Amino acid sequence: RRVLNSAIQTSTTQSSPHPLTSRNVAVIGAGAAGLVAARELWREGHKVVVFERGEQEGGTWVYTPKVESDPLGLDPDRTTVHSSLYHSLRTNLPREVMGFRDYPFVAREEDKERDPRRFPGHREVLMYLKDFANEFGISGFVRFETEVVLVGLEEGGKWKVKSKSKRGEDLDEVYDAVVVCTGHFTEPRIAHITGIDTWKGKQVHSHNYRTPEPYRDQVVILIGSSASAADISRDIAGVAKEVHIASRSVADETFEKQPGYDNMWHHSMIKCLSEDGSVVFLDGSVVLADIILHCTGYIYDFPFLETNGIVTVDDNRVGPLYKHVFPPVLAPSLSFVGLPWKVVPFPLFELQSKWISGLLSNRITLPSEEEMMEDVRAFYTSLEASGIPKRYTHNMGDYQFEYDDWLAAQCGCPVSEEWRKQMYLAVSKNRRARRETYRDEWEDDHLVLQAHEDFKKYTL
Ligand code: FAD
Repeated sequence: RRVLNSAIQTSTTQSSPHPLTSRNVAVIGAGAAGLVAARELWREGHKVVVFERGEQEGGTWVYTPKVESDPLGLDPDRTTVHSSLYHSLRTNLPREVMGFRDYPFVAREEDKERDPRRFPGHREVLMYLKDFANEFGISGFVRFETEVVLVGLEEGGKWKVKSKSKRGEDLDEVYDAVVVCTGHFTEPRIAHITGIDTWKGKQVHSHNYRTPEPYRDQVVILIGSSASAADISRDIAGVAKEVHIASRSVADETFEKQPGYDNMWHHSMIKCLSEDGSVVFLDGSVVLADIILHCTGYIYDFPFLETNGIVTVDDNRVGPLYKHVFPPVLAPSLSFVGLPWKVVPFPLFELQSKWISGLLSNRITLPSEEEMMEDVRAFYTSLEASGIPKRYTHNMGDYQFEYDDWLAAQCGCPVSEEWRKQMYLAVSKNRRARRETYRDEWEDDHLVLQAHEDFKKYTL
């Protein structure tokens, strides 16, 4: 971890000697990342167009009961759905931590339609993002139901952006810069298991999980141990005959009943699948199952992006990227907001967007291309030396606040609030201690008070 930190600190950004400039910027996606990117670009004086293929803003937080035509998400010709939310989803971060830094996610107690809980349901997050878009007039920049189908290099460092609207309009335009905000929880990642191709049961990826009803009276194998795997297994255990959770992160001999449940077990990973429908675990147990539910995560995918091989996705590493945002050769005209995971997303998106906006206007400047490449190489070398696989390149885990503070320093704005850092740690600890009830029982009320004191700067 120390090596990662030093990679973060190697380069310095200085004020630019160039005159301030306003650019024409295309933002792709109107989820949380695209909305805050548009706001920051506009505040900095740029001209912004946001392309959104959906009919409303909110991205992931626009829940739909629809699922894709291939429940496993492998058929390239399947009908697709953007959001991976399930009906029962409540946030796994408290609203104080989760909100944008200068637009607190406070409960709207006066509005009976709203969910005032500290860990609200998904609809409340969508309402918050819509409030944010209204407050800053962002929807006015958005071209809804318009999909970007190609982003390619043009003469003079500009970008060609080809889009198709649902109304049948195809547009070819040129922009000075493109900010990619398309999210990364849509394209399923599937575990490779011996026998999976000929296994005769049903297989579903969690991207297509909405409600437990289809799992009633079934024997379900759920692969994964992420936050959504934990939620979904409990959801399903209420109706299924048996739920068996296969996890890579436990010892091979693990085979234990989940406390508080008489139909849910934890296992180590699956060894192989047999054609007769049985599932053999590394712990030696064998289960005859009806359904395998893959809660195995997602892959980064930018089907519209043509950079002549400058930016690639290799084993889920989008690279080479300086600080997870800029390909050094194309900086600052091409950028990505929102690639890091295991983070508090909204404030991180906000800081990345401020950095991009300030760089595009020349208010701040980047190190040289060679220095950025050197920083990227040092980062990748440090990951390798620590035995961290490429697919964890954008997993920030315990250095996210250091990253946020580095961005804040580049932009000349305040670092993350101390209460936010403390609360994130307190919630992580509480989640481990109270797996079933952490959303409704906690011991960090003093931090909630501090947060609300801080919010007065923005809400009074
Ligand atoms: P998205 O919200 O995915 O938005 C991307 C947008 O880009 C979409 O609107 C899409 O339609 C659009 N788009 C994509 N391609 C194109 C194209 N070619 N042309 C035009 N438009 C395009 N975060 C939290 O803070 N707290 C939580 O509790 C939490 N829980 C989560 C639970 C689940 C199950 C999942 C999947 C995620 C969760 N997250 C949570 C993370 C969540 O993804 C982020 O909070 C955030 O919403 C991501 O925003 P985004 O803008 O990067 O991407």
